[in-house]
Amino acid sequence: MLSTIDYKTFFESTNIGIAAIEADAVISMANAQLLTLLQLDEDEFVGTIFLDWIYDDEDKNTLKENHIKRLHGSKDIPQNYDIRLRTKNGYVSVLINVTFFKEAGRTLVSVLETTQLQQTRQKLRETIHAQEAIFAAIPDLMFELSKEGNYLNVWAQNPEELAASKQQLLGNSVLEILPLAAAKEVIQAIVECYKNGRSSGHQIEIQTPEAKLWFELSASLKYNNDAPPTVIMLSRNITKTKELEFKLRHLSRHDSLTNLYNRRTLQELLQRDTQRAMRYKTPLSVCMLDIDHFKNINDTYGHFMGDRVLQALAALLKKSLREIDYCGRYGGEEFVIVLPDTNLMHAKEFAQRLLKKITTMKFQSDTNTIFHISASIGISTFQTHFTSCEALIKSADNAMYQAKLSGRNCVRESTTQNSDQTQ
Ligand code: GH3
Ligand code: MG
Ligand code: MG
Repeated sequence: MLSTIDYKTFFESTNIGIAAIEADAVISMANAQLLTLLQLDEDEFVGTIFLDWIYDDEDKNTLKENHIKRLHGSKDIPQNYDIRLRTKNGYVSVLINVTFFKEAGRTLVSVLETTQLQQTRQKLRETIHAQEAIFAAIPDLMFELSKEGNYLNVWAQNPEELAASKQQLLGNSVLEILPLAAAKEVIQAIVECYKNGRSSGHQIEIQTPEAKLWFELSASLKYNNDAPPTVIMLSRNITKTKELEFKLRHLSRHDSLTNLYNRRTLQELLQRDTQRAMRYKTPLSVCMLDIDHFKNINDTYGHFMGDRVLQALAALLKKSLREIDYCGRYGGEEFVIVLPDTNLMHAKEFAQRLLKKITTMKFQSDTNTIFHISASIGISTFQTHFTSCEALIKSADNAMYQAKLSGRNCVRESTTQNSDQTQ
């Protein structure tokens, strides 16, 4: 058994503030630690009512009510309270523990200062609020991903932009959720983060339940306390920009009247295919098609009717081609048709069939006159000794002029060897 002297020595030597409160709520004893904490002399504190030192009325009432309940024998009354106590000049944040000794009618209160803890908590709360505000201000989708590409956290201001619901994403891998091409880009961005700390510029295409969307990724490595680093990834919706980019690309590659490839694209594709034909030693034919007396159509039926003829012919060309063939508008009423893997004989058969279809086309002018058109086609085939794609077009053009000279509405083949005539 400890003596009263022993208790006194213990109270004075501990780091915790201690006060004894008698049945009449009056403080009968306080150790030096508590008096120092409250910046009070003993006679300013001992002899006063303990509850009067509680700074917040709400806490004062809680403690009072709980003490009454305790007196009436209630069990499970909380013993610990996070409160503020008055000091000489203000208040101090403390954690108090209340122990009631029924027989003596006395309560012992231990007091631990938590100002620093409170300040840290406050700072943490502020940081969390700032973080929440930043998240709310960012319109992008935000993810926390593991090294393996598993979704660990998802923040979405616009959840309809997600590839799947948040619940479906969490715990699953991007490889299970995203199309393979998109998943590969995400994994690549993660790899870059682990290597360089950050990554930007990867673009992915996602099919949401609503629409096809494009996103640009930017990511950085996040270091964690007790776990391996993870990646925070922002996914910015760039669909509008991407659509504009596609539109511009289409416009730059196609003729606006007929929607066929324009001359530049034709040259680009033909360049690719002539090289391929050379490498694999496969034939390749080019047809140059020019509408006969097209000027007369404009002069007789008007420019607008001329445009409709060009559009109708473009539609017919498209319809007449195989999957691997392509055509484009080379100039005003001149079209180029490229037939890969096609020798001269088959190209001629194709051109004859096409001419027949062209002559059976029927047009009706504004004044209800029915008229027809014809065209002249020159063919040039690269088979064995070829030079450049320019030479191929040039000789098809020459052959087309031969067709004009032969009375139009006919097909002529190039008579020259396909050696480079552009030089
Ligand atoms: P040929 O049989 O010798 O080829 O005679 P042609 O009249 O077809 O040839 P020419 O080169 O004399 O005239 C071509 C015409 O095509 C002249 C030009 O005004 C017209 N043209 C060019 N581009 C367009 C277009 O986009 N729309 C319309 N309506 N006409 C065009
Ligand atoms: Mg012409
Ligand atoms: Mg013409």
